Amino acid sequence: MLDCGASAIHRMAQENLDWANLDAIWISHFHLDHTGGLAPFLFGTKHAPETQARKKPLKIFGAKGLRRLIEAFDKANDYELFKQPFPFEIVEVEALEKFEILPGVEAVALDTPHTKESLALHLRGENDKTIVYTADTGFTMVLGDFARGADLLIMECSFFKNKPVETHLELAEAMHLARYAKPKRVVLTHFYAEWDAVDFAKEVRGFSPPCEVIQAWDGLKLDVN
Ligand SMILES: [Zn+2]
Ligand SMILES: [Zn+2]
Repeated sequence: MLDCGASAIHRMAQENLDWANLDAIWISHFHLDHTGGLAPFLFGTKHAPETQARKKPLKIFGAKGLRRLIEAFDKANDYELFKQPFPFEIVEVEALEKFEILPGVEAVALDTPHTKESLALHLRGENDKTIVYTADTGFTMVLGDFARGADLLIMECSFFKNKPVETHLELAEAMHLARYAKPKRVVLTHFYAEWDAVDFAKEVRGFSPPCEVIQAWDGLKLDVN
């Protein structure tokens, strides 16, 4: 799971995903819209009938400070979130150092201009297919190099245009990165409310993107193979 906002745990159940056997969670940074579901999820896996016989470990990956964040959630009411029925591990990763996020899936993180701990993620599976997840980020061409040739580029696009902050992307920047990185497909996500009034397909067409650009929606399913 890439980030865990407050609604993620209910969405997993609604989509009939096997949440009780989730192997790994990636936390891109510590803003609540990316971490607010962590404590409820861990409280669920601690007590749910579906997880009591589980033996497989669960690992949560993220930047330095992730352990302190989850400890803070835990200490808010002595939930004992670290005592799970199965092995549970928090892994704090360093940017640009390879790690195995799942058996056979190699990952590398990249510092991004959003918060001091924010990281983009590059995943490579055994079949050599690659997914890049920018998470929240300001504009930097380094992301374009990081995402070069990815089979799927999942990119934030918080704003349509005239963004009021430097720490997110707007459509023109996202399309510039897509043209530079030449991924096979792009999914744009993390839309702020101003997008509700925008014709996504029409505006994207205006940039003549080099590949398919998909507007993310709740329940969207994509195969990367
Ligand atoms: Zn954020
Ligand atoms: Zn966010």
